[in-house]
Amino acid sequence: MAVKVKQNAKEVKKESENKAANDGANGAKKAGPPKKAKKTEDYFTEKYPHAIAGTLRFDESANKQKMKIKCEECGDTNREVYTSDLFQVKVCLECAKKKRAASRKKKEEETAEATA
Ligand SMILES: [Zn+2]
Repeated sequence: MAVKVKQNAKEVKKESENKAANDGANGAKKAGPPKKAKKTEDYFTEKYPHAIAGTLRFDESANKQKMKIKCEECGDTNREVYTSDLFQVKVCLECAKKKRAASRKKKEEETAEATA
């Protein structure tokens, strides 16, 4: 008997939780941050100054969030990266290409000097 009552109580609790989640926009409850919530745009723009506010979207094919960035080199704003890459992607594709080419050239020069 006691067990059955407990189960019912649990079900009722679950229902009220669902309702609370639906009413979440009202912000009435104080339950701390939800465990599996997606990170917010504020989080990214605060942590990564090159991430552009207002560009966060969810890429369903990759099941990942994406954001546009402002290139630190030239200011271009067309590159979109996964938010998981924001920590390492800070320039547009063109500048990344130039950087790669520059570092390759530098390496070649160093190699040439070493073998000369
Ligand atoms: Zn650039």
